[in-house]
Amino acid sequence: MAIKTYKKGDATKIAANFRAREFDCQGRGCCAATPIDDKLVDYLQQIRTHFGKPVYVTAYRCKTHNAKVANAAPNSYHCYGQAADFHIDGVAPAEIAKYAESIGIKGIGLYDTFVHIDTRESKSFWYSHAQQRRTTFGGAPEKEEKGYTLYDFVWDVQSACGASVDGKAGPETLSKTVTLSGYKNRYHKAVLAVQKRLFALGYTEVGEADGIAGAKFTAAVTHFQKDNGCWADGEITAKNKTWKRLLGMA
Ligand SMILES: [Zn+2]
Ligand SMILES: [Zn+2]
Repeated sequence: MAIKTYKKGDATKIAANFRAREFDCQGRGCCAATPIDDKLVDYLQQIRTHFGKPVYVTAYRCKTHNAKVANAAPNSYHCYGQAADFHIDGVAPAEIAKYAESIGIKGIGLYDTFVHIDTRESKSFWYSHAQQRRTTFGGAPEKEEKGYTLYDFVWDVQSACGASVDGKAGPETLSKTVTLSGYKNRYHKAVLAVQKRLFALGYTEVGEADGIAGAKFTAAVTHFQKDNGCWADGEITAKNKTWKRLLGMA
């Protein structure tokens, strides 16, 4: 994180679609400089790119101006260049909040006509000026679930096997799966993914996640196959039913 300070009115481009002056304090004659957290700019640019439409921002508030703003917290993140309130024409604030959550933003306030985001490190989500607590806006990054999830696993298998990577298995993913029995003495990233997934599923006999399809790996795979109605030979071959089951394709 780095907070840079610009002169009020500075037209310097600070991201593909933002200029420094867009972050200026809205008060008149109250301040001359604008601090801007570059993490805030990154977030806003991601949002701008995702929705493909202009993002109208109100960001910095000097203490003088902040004191005049209704409902403003005295020590608001806005006073440090670390918060922005914004809207996008034609996009519901709830949609924006959901997307903001999905990209890992920790401070999000949803209001009827705008969204507040800030660069705090620990999660605080709320709704409206009444500050009703929210645990999610529906965009929880699945990667944050506990343990090594199906989503994590599919993602890693897709990238290890050269399939399109989106964390959701389909026929294309299955068609790219590789035979793992050839990796008894050498490393494959897909073996590593299967080791982590089997361990997460409770097949702890799989042992250390080293990316090598050794004896422990075969034993754990066999166990998984027995539990999941597959031919229990400890082999994971390209496109076979074991792959299908592991990938959660029923
Ligand atoms: Zn000001
Ligand atoms: Zn705000």
